[in-house]
Amino acid sequence: MPTHLVSKVVVVGGGIFGVSSALHLSRLGIETILVNDGPLASGASGRSLAWLNSARVRSAEYHRLRMVGIDRYRTLSAKYPDAAWLRFDGGLTWDADDVSNEIMEAFAHEKSLGYDARHLRAGDIPSATPGVAVNAVTPQGAIFNPGEGWVDLPALIKLLVAEFVGRGGQLVTDAGRATVTVADGRVTGVSTATGATFAADAVLLATGSEVPRTVAQTGQHIPDGTPIALLVRTKPAALPLRAVLNTPRVAVRPTPNGALALDSAWSEEEVIVNSDGTYGVKASTLQGLLEEASKVLEGNPKLELESYGVGPKPIPGDGEPVLGRLNDIEGYYVAFSHSGATLGLIAGELLAGEIATGNEHPLLANFRPARFA
Ligand SMILES: Cc1cc2nc3c(=O)[nH]c(=O)nc-3n(C[C@H](O)[C@H](O)[C@H](O)COP(=O)(O)OP(=O)(O)OC[C@H]3O[C@@H](n4cnc5c(N)ncnc54)[C@H](O)[C@@H]3O)c2cc1C
Repeated sequence: MPTHLVSKVVVVGGGIFGVSSALHLSRLGIETILVNDGPLASGASGRSLAWLNSARVRSAEYHRLRMVGIDRYRTLSAKYPDAAWLRFDGGLTWDADDVSNEIMEAFAHEKSLGYDARHLRAGDIPSATPGVAVNAVTPQGAIFNPGEGWVDLPALIKLLVAEFVGRGGQLVTDAGRATVTVADGRVTGVSTATGATFAADAVLLATGSEVPRTVAQTGQHIPDGTPIALLVRTKPAALPLRAVLNTPRVAVRPTPNGALALDSAWSEEEVIVNSDGTYGVKASTLQGLLEEASKVLEGNPKLELESYGVGPKPIPGDGEPVLGRLNDIEGYYVAFSHSGATLGLIAGELLAGEIATGNEHPLLANFRPARFA
């Protein structure tokens, strides 16, 4: 069946990509079923720093997609200006005081793109954004990006799913592992571990870190660079911090309930991956991250652990998004990317458009799975 006759779609995966795509499909009048193995937002979307940004250096096409992604959040923010789960209070970043410091190069690059960026010395920071320990800023200074923000993905997913269901979309959670069924070179639907089957004209596989393994069963290859990541949540602390901080030893963002979410590269590397596939996190890693966060916050407040999330952070092997139809299998689409918070709304919109109409969107031209063929 030609793609433009698509009338029924199954989306597998209840993270931000699956939920956003399912909603956009239902907005286009497509009968859509969203299937997830467990509860919604139980994967990476439930433990994301979710900084909305296109900072630093990347391909021009990826930068453009991220900027359009941020644009969609701006529209949402205008609709919900007082939302505690979506804020555009800027981002502040600085590098270590060693040869790895790239602040001036990053600043020059961002300015060349017209990305809103200010180079600040420590003393300039309090008038730009509150709550930062200025003595932690390295001598090369920091970049303040006033147009950046953050989103609480579980809250966003809840909002999007409510509209999806309101439009008649079918939500199937706690369904166990779903399998995409293929016959004669095209998808036929999805079957679940709990025994349900759903026929469909098209399937979107948005199962986060599972995507490369599942696609490999079709004989196609998507390189996988997924690490195991750690997100630490503090207890509410009523601090003045508003911006997202990206600093050499810790990234920090506020949360809707007045707490902080923290992550870093070094703490991610300390996660223990057990042979049975479970993860271990050392108390010293959690404590170390809380202490690093305290050092970059005004007044060096004592931070207490509320909870943490650990698990895969989906990242394609070449670092760029993988969005679109698989080669050679009619009706089989995938969504697999890092920065899924920044891209969540736009990726869902563009994928839904492609699935519904069969027309490829130029913004996704560089990101199709076919590039690995
Ligand atoms: C610590 C951390 C920090 C991050 N920081 C940022 C950031 O600052 N900015 C940014 O933009 N992005 C960031 N990201 C990335 C972003 O959070 C992810 O790209 C995004 O959440 C991925 O969403 P997803 O829908 O692809 O996957 P997921 O959220 O993992 O959802 C996939 C869903 O599919 C389900 N599933 C898997 N297999 C099956 C199956 N066979 N059948 C049924 N269901 C299945 C899973 O249970 C899960 O619910 C970060 C991620 C992490 C972990």
